Amino acid sequence: MAGLSWQSLRTRLVAGALCASVASIWIVTLIIGTYLRSDMELAISAQQYSTVSLIASGIHRSVNERSAIVENLAQRLGRLGAVDGASAQALLESQSGIDPLFNWGVVVTDADGVALASEPAGHKSVGARHGDLPFFAQLKTADKPVITPPTIGQRSGAPVIGIAMPIRTPEGRYVGAVIGVINLRESNFLDQISNAKYGRTGDFLVTDIESRSCIASSDKRRVMNVGPAAGVNPLYDRYLAGHEGSGVAVSSRGVEELSSSAKIGTTGWLMQSVLPTQEAFLVVRQMQRRLLFSAVALTLCAGLVAWWWVRRQLKPLERSAVLLDEMRQGRRPRQPLPVERDDEIGKLAVAFNGLLKFIVDQEALLTRVAATEQVRKILTYVPGMVFQYCQHPDGTGAFPFASEAVRELYGVSPQVLESSASSIRDLLVTEDRERFFMSLRLSATRMERWLVDYRIRSSDGRIKWLHVDAVPELDEAGRIVWYGFVTDVTATKALEHELDKHRLHLEELVRDRTEQLEEARNIAESANRAKSTFLANMSHEIRTPLNAITGMAYLMHRTGVTPEQADRLNKIEAASSHLLEIINSILDLSKIDAGKLTLSAEVIQIEKLLANVVSIMSDRAASKGLRLNVSLAARLPGVVGDGTRIQQALLNYVGNAIKFTAQGSVTIGVKVEADEGEHVRLCFEVQDTGIGIAPEVLGKIFNSFEQADSSTTREYGGTGLGLAITKRLAELMGGAVGVSSTPGVGSRFWFTALLGKGEPSGTEPGAPDLDRAEAMLTEASQGKCVLLVEDEPTSQVVAEELLVAVGFLVDTADNGSEAVEMVERKAYDLILMDMQMPQMDGITATRCIRQLPGGQSVPILAMTANVFSDDKSNCLDAGMNDFLTKPVVPGVLYSTLLRWLG
Ligand code: ADP
Repeated sequence: MAGLSWQSLRTRLVAGALCASVASIWIVTLIIGTYLRSDMELAISAQQYSTVSLIASGIHRSVNERSAIVENLAQRLGRLGAVDGASAQALLESQSGIDPLFNWGVVVTDADGVALASEPAGHKSVGARHGDLPFFAQLKTADKPVITPPTIGQRSGAPVIGIAMPIRTPEGRYVGAVIGVINLRESNFLDQISNAKYGRTGDFLVTDIESRSCIASSDKRRVMNVGPAAGVNPLYDRYLAGHEGSGVAVSSRGVEELSSSAKIGTTGWLMQSVLPTQEAFLVVRQMQRRLLFSAVALTLCAGLVAWWWVRRQLKPLERSAVLLDEMRQGRRPRQPLPVERDDEIGKLAVAFNGLLKFIVDQEALLTRVAATEQVRKILTYVPGMVFQYCQHPDGTGAFPFASEAVRELYGVSPQVLESSASSIRDLLVTEDRERFFMSLRLSATRMERWLVDYRIRSSDGRIKWLHVDAVPELDEAGRIVWYGFVTDVTATKALEHELDKHRLHLEELVRDRTEQLEEARNIAESANRAKSTFLANMSHEIRTPLNAITGMAYLMHRTGVTPEQADRLNKIEAASSHLLEIINSILDLSKIDAGKLTLSAEVIQIEKLLANVVSIMSDRAASKGLRLNVSLAARLPGVVGDGTRIQQALLNYVGNAIKFTAQGSVTIGVKVEADEGEHVRLCFEVQDTGIGIAPEVLGKIFNSFEQADSSTTREYGGTGLGLAITKRLAELMGGAVGVSSTPGVGSRFWFTALLGKGEPSGTEPGAPDLDRAEAMLTEASQGKCVLLVEDEPTSQVVAEELLVAVGFLVDTADNGSEAVEMVERKAYDLILMDMQMPQMDGITATRCIRQLPGGQSVPILAMTANVFSDDKSNCLDAGMNDFLTKPVVPGVLYSTLLRWLG
């Protein structure tokens, strides 16, 4: 019963309303009850008193009437001068109508109180003495009737009262009295009291004040009873003291009674009434009871009505409370409370809604502030000020946000800037003002990024260069808001200024340096050229005599020599070929280093290549008693690459192996290391049983001019170029080199090459050997005329001899121009053309010959000591057909001639 909980406002309001209404009902009821009772009591009392007064006046009239009779009798008797029994009796008897007034008769006494006459006479009261009665003394002095206190009559034995009047003579002498007696037990004027009942339970009383005894009463038992002694009942005492009115007091019987009292004229009696309040105020009590019932009924009704009404009035409040609770628990989004009526609850809801909105706004504000503070914190250590700047339609601006760096940049706090944008406006240097605002206006009108560098004068008077970079956006209110940052670029500007200052100087410097570098490059290039020229010249100059030496030796051999001479010639040839090897190695290395060595791509038959190597090296191996073996993988694929260079690399290894092996064997092996789709990686290796190489020098023997130790040169000779060339060749072919060796046991040298795949198209005619080539050429040369263009006399002689030896007709020209002239005059079958000659070189001469009629088809073969690839390509470009190098190897010469003439 949550509805009845004391926590419930409804319960408390209902209880409060109920208490208020019940209290007011009850207070009203009590007040009404009280006033009603007192008013009613007063009214009833007044009414009772009126009744009593009325009765009293009736009694008083009766008493007066009787007093008047007695007085009249006394006056008449007084006028007689003396009282005698007979005249008194006669007078009494003459009075008709006395009896009904004095039911116990009328007595005339003398001055001593002795009865002289009585009416009715039958009472026999004559002679009775009354002078002892207390009132007699009073009577003697009285001038009006005296009412006697009630006494028990001597004759009647009943309570009686008398109305006595002194008889005075005309002179005023007291001579007797007339007494009218009323027996209270007999019918008398007080019967209206005795016979009337006051209410159901009340009584009327006539009380004699002096004796405090009851004269007449509705309750006969009271008659002659003396009332409460003085001091017992104060009200009674007051009545006796003369108070007229009504009052409530508890009787001697313990009953609360309403009494009224009124004096009965001059009689000394009181007319009283008593009525128990129970009856007197019965109406009042009943009315009070009804009031009580009405109050209870009203209370209940008021309670119910209050309950219903409060419940109805508080309904919106309860609904609001439920809504709020649901909002608090998150079961309902925050929303304004419904305003159903324009009463206090409605006002409360309106006020609450206002408060809610305020709280929501505050929360949003706090969230924004917190977020702003968070961002501010994050941005504290960001160099430069991050800001948000917005422009109002009237052109004024504001900073809704500025990071901490504003202090450092502008010397104001973010809060100051956020409250007034003008706080930093005055810092702007006048000269930059127009440019600054122009850039802002442009950014706003074009909605483009705002980029500007400007100066401010900070508080310490220093000029700062600031850089602004911000992007404009339109917010919901249609304002333009820039989000960006400001950085201090003073240092950069100073640097730029410095740089500007130095730029000119630098340009000069660069110019100077460029010139110097150009000069240095020229020097380097010319040094390089000089080196190349030197190498070319050296090669040329060594080859030319070497050509003469080898040629002459060959020719001497052919002409027949003694064994001793033949041996010497062999030594000359060996020395020459060694010298040539050295020259070739040096040239190879320099070509490779200069990046000028280009590899050819021809189909290679590895088996054939190995056989070639073996055939070249077998004599040398045999001379040292070594076995030269070949170890081949089961089947090697056909490959495309530069066979000459592979052979050169292998010859280097095999040559070294033979050189550094005293006994045992040298084994050449080839295997496929990896098959990589269109390419295959072959590994060539040469294993020997020679001296081996110490581990510490293994790493450097592939460097140029490096040897394992200096004693090697002394013992084995060599230049230290072979391995370096092999390494470079292997690398050119996409491979690598390596060695593993154990001193005293032997070495294993290897290199790899990445080669294309390709099978030979057919069986290529192998180069014929010298003897066979010579024989074949002898046949082919019959009647053929060769023009030999050569300036160097010895070379001329050697070449001529070699040509003639195989049957050619030979014409010689000493230079190019001479050769051109000779070709103009005569058709030749072939021309051997030297390159470097006086007057006209071989290249120019070839070009000229190719211009001559019939000069296009004649084979022109270069035969030169210029062996660089440039030289070869120059020759071929000029129109030559082939290229022979000096020193001329007869076999090569013959096989080449055979190719062009056969
Ligand atoms: P060269 O043999 O002309 O001195 P190389 O470059 O061919 O130059 O060889 C360099 C050095 O490597 C040799 O001097 C030698 O000390 C060492 N070397 C090369 N091959 C072998 C080998 N098979 N056995 C032992 N030492 C070798």
